[in-house]
Amino acid sequence: MSDQPIVIKDPDYSRDNEVRPFQIEGENFRGRVVRLGTAVDEILKNHNYSDAVARILGEFLVLTSLLGSMMKFKGIVTIQVKSSGALPMLVADYENSGIDGEPGHLRGYAQVDEKILGQYGKNPSYAGLVGSKKGYMALTIDQGDEMERYQGIVDLKGETLSEVARNYFLSSEQTPTEIKLSCDKDPVSGFWRAGGIMLQHLARGEEGQERLLERAETANQDKETWERATIFTNSVKEQELQDPSLTSDALLYRLFHEDGVRVFDASHVAFQCRCSRDKLYNTLKGFSAEDLVESTVDGKITVNCQFCSSDYVFDPEEFSTP
Ligand SMILES: [Zn+2]
Repeated sequence: MSDQPIVIKDPDYSRDNEVRPFQIEGENFRGRVVRLGTAVDEILKNHNYSDAVARILGEFLVLTSLLGSMMKFKGIVTIQVKSSGALPMLVADYENSGIDGEPGHLRGYAQVDEKILGQYGKNPSYAGLVGSKKGYMALTIDQGDEMERYQGIVDLKGETLSEVARNYFLSSEQTPTEIKLSCDKDPVSGFWRAGGIMLQHLARGEEGQERLLERAETANQDKETWERATIFTNSVKEQELQDPSLTSDALLYRLFHEDGVRVFDASHVAFQCRCSRDKLYNTLKGFSAEDLVESTVDGKITVNCQFCSSDYVFDPEEFSTP
């Protein structure tokens, strides 16, 4: 990590919690850079995770921000990983409220199997936490009742979350993608920071244009340019993705100034949970009398939101039918 002071609150000039879309000049290569400061720190600190677990969830939140910010309309993008490792489930979602100027709402949590986690010692590897033997990653886009729900699912192939994401784009959307995710705790301040970069080779807009993977010899030039761009993208160090003193624009310039890079308006991300007393009340209202009795401890029903760790306390009387 750098010696620069860590941004704790987000002052006006802060470029944290920002997703910056970009395009390589003259190519159909588009990407985004994301940098998370307080947004990721708040989410991770709401839970009592070990550093290794927090790091994975942090990367997952970066991925969710990259994908969520691509949605142009009101809606919710949810990403879920189910695994046979010490983290049976990772969930994060990104809500575009559809209100102009409002940041995207990000939240997420990891389900931890303490028993399995205990087998891996203090510093469990990705393979121990998530692994690649069994499981899947699912992405759901929900744009409300009138729109169709979209869901894509891929196997958990890869030795890092970045690899799983790359594989997702290749197999589920046939889009060659380079992606790097990173999250770590600043050893001095104890604040979590995270960042990521994604570069995609989009199919040409015109009809009949083949995608990169299916192109014939004549497309070698394009293939070379794409390979070079992925090598540059891959050369980004984790520290650069988290460094608060290096803006996304400066990072992009450093990587792609030879080809030329064009940036577009940034979108912003903030931690916000969608849980509410009303929503949980309605859920409990659907419980049978037996289930309600079972959920009652010391005369109260306490419901914990897994996303933000808030506790909601209800009196069982609230649900008794007259
Ligand atoms: Zn909540």
